[in-house]
Amino acid sequence: MLIVKKFGGSSVANRERIFNVARRCIEDYKKGNDIVVVLSAMGDTTDELLELARSINPNAPKRELDMLLTTGEQVSVSLMAMAMHEMDIPAISLNAFQVRMHSTARYGNARFKRIDTDRIFHELEERKIVIVTGFQAVNKYDDYATLGRGGSDTTAVALAAALHADKCEIYTDVDGVYTADPRIVKNARKIDEIMYDEMLELATSGAKVLHNRSVEMAKKYGVELVVRSSLTSEEGTVVKEVVKMEKMLITGVAADRNTARISAMGVADKPGIAFKIFNTLAKRNINVDIILQSVGRDGTKDISFTVSEDDLKETLQILEEKKEALTIKEVTYNTNVSKVSIVGAGMLSNPGVAAKMFESLFNSNININMISTSEIRITVLIDEKDTDKAMVAIHDGFGLND
Ligand code: ASP
Ligand code: MG
Repeated sequence: MLIVKKFGGSSVANRERIFNVARRCIEDYKKGNDIVVVLSAMGDTTDELLELARSINPNAPKRELDMLLTTGEQVSVSLMAMAMHEMDIPAISLNAFQVRMHSTARYGNARFKRIDTDRIFHELEERKIVIVTGFQAVNKYDDYATLGRGGSDTTAVALAAALHADKCEIYTDVDGVYTADPRIVKNARKIDEIMYDEMLELATSGAKVLHNRSVEMAKKYGVELVVRSSLTSEEGTVVKEVVKMEKMLITGVAADRNTARISAMGVADKPGIAFKIFNTLAKRNINVDIILQSVGRDGTKDISFTVSEDDLKETLQILEEKKEALTIKEVTYNTNVSKVSIVGAGMLSNPGVAAKMFESLFNSNININMISTSEIRITVLIDEKDTDKAMVAIHDGFGLND
């Protein structure tokens, strides 16, 4: 069997954990399997490198940021290979240039285009464990480009797809995917099986277990994922297309605090204004989330929407620059908001799910600012200070702990 195993930063945070991962990989290797390991940077390395960059230049060129950040993964893969050699197992570390993992041009947010498999297959034939840097790719300028925070998951899935791996295991510091963040909702439950679409909605709504693009890619190429702990031998959560249905209306609750609401006040109440605003933002690659437009009055209306807090500064700048063309009288914003979402394929066939969510919030005296939905997700924008309370209330309201 060919197995791709991905380990996150906390799983390789120190010497002891590196050897722990090495041991787990070697166990499967000794059973005769081919093993490809994908690693993130050790512990908080990526954050620390970003801090360091900021201390030198808060507006550092994105190309140079990627040059810096990719060093983190290079450290962990080389140390892992050394650990395996120390245990008398042939291993080799490879970076994105050596494998050749090709991506789109965009620094800091590149997407895989193609992965060459020759080098990896060659090393596997020599019975080596192949250890590959997560998070990085090579773009058309022959530069490093990173895949966005948490992108190593996507490296693992992309490799599993390209190599036609039999298994793709994502190891982390929790036992699997939970019905809610167990640090906030104490009685949250581990989910045994979850559909790609549900996982995708959860990951996009703030659940941090998996990079959302890794789920997108897993669905596209039919790569079955297992999310499990690197520290225990618990079963973990399987992410796949069809799951055995649990008798639950919803599958999980997620929150995203890294969100900001922006309002463009007093824009002209005529065709084309919404198009112009959102087209301008789209051209600058700003992802807009919940959108709410007020009813027109006296020829004007207000348009509110949410963006990631990371994009707030740039969004405000753009709106300011184009204020006249977009007929905006005034721009207001609020960063003290968060999105709380419920996700579940169960809502496709069950009415009243939204009402039940709103009831839970009402019972806890939490005000809803905005609402958005997809087929299998309902999201509310609320005051950030109410986030934890809302998650607990909703989780209890739907009886997710039972
Ligand atoms: N080291 C990168 C990050 O922290 C990639 C990853 O961990 O997946 O975002
Ligand atoms: Mg991660």
